Amino acid sequence: MSTAVTAPVSQAGGGSSEVLLRVENVVKEFPVASSKLFRRSTDAVHAVDGVSFELRKGETLGLVGETGCGKSTLARCITRLYSITGGTVNFNGRDITNLEGGALRDVRREVQMIFQDPYGSLNPRRRVGSIIADPFLIHGMLDGAALKRRVQELMELVGLNPEHYNRFPNEFSGGQRQRIGVARALALQPKLIVCDEPVSALDVSIQAQIINLLADLQAELGLTYLFIAHDLSVVQHVSDRVAVMYLGKVAELADVDDLYGHPRHPYSNALLSAVPVADPNAAAQRERIVLIGDVPSPINPPSGCHFHTRCPKAQELCVAKDPALEPKFADAPSHVAACHFPVADGEDLTEAKAAIEQEDASDVGVDAVLAGLGDTPGFASPVREEEAR
Ligand code: SF4
Repeated sequence: MSTAVTAPVSQAGGGSSEVLLRVENVVKEFPVASSKLFRRSTDAVHAVDGVSFELRKGETLGLVGETGCGKSTLARCITRLYSITGGTVNFNGRDITNLEGGALRDVRREVQMIFQDPYGSLNPRRRVGSIIADPFLIHGMLDGAALKRRVQELMELVGLNPEHYNRFPNEFSGGQRQRIGVARALALQPKLIVCDEPVSALDVSIQAQIINLLADLQAELGLTYLFIAHDLSVVQHVSDRVAVMYLGKVAELADVDDLYGHPRHPYSNALLSAVPVADPNAAAQRERIVLIGDVPSPINPPSGCHFHTRCPKAQELCVAKDPALEPKFADAPSHVAACHFPVADGEDLTEAKAAIEQEDASDVGVDAVLAGLGDTPGFASPVREEEAR
């Protein structure tokens, strides 16, 4: 587990200097128990492993990483859909880590979430008007004609026809369904919206519509976004700052131009080398950094730097010691990376050769492990158990 390190918040990009969300050393573990006749073992999926960052009012923080790196679990910890194993989440000056009942419900008025799947996140048996009206009814804020009027205003705000109030979700396209999810998230005028891969299930043309809609709403309503995605081009377009996650930890965090222009962590470099480039000449000159192996198991993560099993620059020190998240070279204090041997500007990582023997750690990430456990005899899916509570 890493030491808590909170990256200084830069004043570049959008947003004010006022911190809205402070995440300190957040840990989320899902216990995994196997019961056999004479033996009982208890282990844990280390989904989020000591993550710290700050998010200031009005800004967008992008969160990227491979599937299974713990981004969505972190989002659910921040929105308190999951309980937190360790660390603290401070929202708007208040510690919300252990809130329950009415106090937690009050916070949820201000922290909302847009989910990845615009098909699965809407109840197909309910009319769109009643889906968007839910937050008002749950919090006892509006009813009757005033409620209908407000729901129709929200539909108009997100570009839906208010006349379609009585339609069912299956009568809308994917993009329109995501707009319904946005309207529902906006209903209670939240301060923070956690967007968990809000466009990855949509066609490219529809993605642009939803991203532009989110940007317009941010400018109009002063919203703060935590924007989770695995598409680095989308994240670059929408974010003021970007955090790169690997196996439950933040590997690098910086203002968007610093991260895309001067990535210090070898993992950030590898991710960026895979981003498609529009200019064919630039694309022809660029060499992709191909990582060996898969993301190791979050049940038994590697010692030291979690990335050492795949890193082209790995040395003995990386196996022994977990690197601190801190500025490298002459970078700004807001640009931090967790690496003992950071990548210098112009360094060619395709030429790098690890000084340790690397095994093909052919295992899978958090999501796959958690999903798979539910189907394994003797195991219960910890996610499903938690969601059921
Ligand atoms: Fe981790 Fe070492 Fe690679 Fe840096 S050089 S990312 S510390 S394995």
